[in-house]
Amino acid sequence: MYPNTQLYINGQWQDAQSGDSLAVINPATEQEIGRVAKAQIADLDQALQAAAQGFEVWKATAAAERAKIMKKAAHLLRERANDIARIMTLEQGKPLKQAKIETLSAADVIEWFAGEAVRSYGQVIPSRQQDVHSYTVKTPVGVVAAFTPWNFPINQIVRKMSAALAAGCSIIIKGPEETPASPAQLIQAFHDAGVPKGVVNLVYGEPAEISAYLIPHPVVGKISFTGSTPVGKQLAALAGQHMKKATMELGGHAPVLIFKDADLDVAVSEMLASKFRNAGQVCIAPTRFLIEREVYDQVVEKIKQQVEALKVGSGLDDGVDVGPMIHARGYANIQKLIRNALDKGAKLVCGGHALEGKGYFMQPTVLKDVPFEADCMDKEPFGPLVLCRPFDSYSEAVAEANRLSFGLAAYAYSRSNKVCLDLGRDIQSGMLTINHVGLGFPELPFGGLKDSGYGTEGGSEAINAYFDTRLVTVAAR
Ligand code: NAD
Repeated sequence: MYPNTQLYINGQWQDAQSGDSLAVINPATEQEIGRVAKAQIADLDQALQAAAQGFEVWKATAAAERAKIMKKAAHLLRERANDIARIMTLEQGKPLKQAKIETLSAADVIEWFAGEAVRSYGQVIPSRQQDVHSYTVKTPVGVVAAFTPWNFPINQIVRKMSAALAAGCSIIIKGPEETPASPAQLIQAFHDAGVPKGVVNLVYGEPAEISAYLIPHPVVGKISFTGSTPVGKQLAALAGQHMKKATMELGGHAPVLIFKDADLDVAVSEMLASKFRNAGQVCIAPTRFLIEREVYDQVVEKIKQQVEALKVGSGLDDGVDVGPMIHARGYANIQKLIRNALDKGAKLVCGGHALEGKGYFMQPTVLKDVPFEADCMDKEPFGPLVLCRPFDSYSEAVAEANRLSFGLAAYAYSRSNKVCLDLGRDIQSGMLTINHVGLGFPELPFGGLKDSGYGTEGGSEAINAYFDTRLVTVAAR
């Protein structure tokens, strides 16, 4: 049974004042499975007022008490993970197992930030004058407006929300209209854990209308967006005009550097598991597989064998590795990118086609010898597509890895200490993981460089984005 989703404002679930709603489509069947309330300005005004009042209450709540409520929400989420995962799979398409992992890891994120809440210290600064005491205090930035996408319906929210709540901020979340019901379950866990009314608010509607209203609004102190680079640039510009703090987690086009001395089996199996998670609709998904020429054919063959063994189907079915893509737009886009690459001279290793019948199912696809003229070498595929190219030297591999304006995640495999350390210096990305897949844990910074955005959503850096650091200096007279 899939639930309809209302707006959550001032501690209650309610329909939009206009009564308007949007359809929610199951991407595995293309059928409407439910509705989500569509907020308009009157609803947003209510949410802003609630969040302003919620902020006054929450910032005055002791950090230890905030942490306690957060930990209780994490506990409830774990207890409810099976039911929540099923809802997520129905609306998002990802295999049930992945949906459950997402839900459980959201609980870890909440707990980790709850730990940060009670350890957010200021500094005492040694003074150059006698009897002068200088120190910094961290105060929450205020009401946060967060805009999150559909690929990780819970996790994209929980990172922003946990850091904001730990810091003492209140939040208005514009959740993903494609996948509204699993985020609602996250909010319900916080409601049941006792978060005061107004501290958390969840709205859905027309994304551009909502961001255009919330970002300039004087009640809002900070914004955080996860989504595509073009939209991120628009929202960052608007935030800049109104001098709002902003965190931008945007697109990527991750390179994977596989050197000839690497453990090739580990490299291939880890990279393919990451690539096809969530049908490749992941900002940090490995995309450009750059393989040292001596082992190129061998690695491409290993990739082919493993990719051909992947099972595509409804996320509710047992043993499915790759679910449907989220919407017709992404589905059409990946097919267009594959056609364009083949026209430009890339060679098809496997896959290449959409599955027949209902649902946005795409065969996991591998292309090799992809020329730079192919659009997919520059544009984020955001789907189940692997691009392979050979390289002849370290400097050629690094130059290609750094060629694009994106700089989010990068991956590498080599048994040479020198190569690993040099890559740490040379690769221009916010995150680099070498000889394992080690991204996305709550304690690790998560963020990009260049067109992939700014700010970070994990680690101790993340909570700082929700604080103002103020100086107080006192002469004892
Ligand atoms: P899109 O740009 O239309 O939407 C991406 C997200 O941004 C959605 O959640 C959407 O609701 C939101 N959005 C769009 N316009 C907005 C606005 N004016 N104000 C506030 N929010 C707005 O793209 P899409 O077709 O849904 O997804 C494809 C692209 O989005 C991908 O190529 C990828 O770059 C990006 N994306 C990135 C992530 C990520 O994790 N960084 C997640 C999802 C999508």
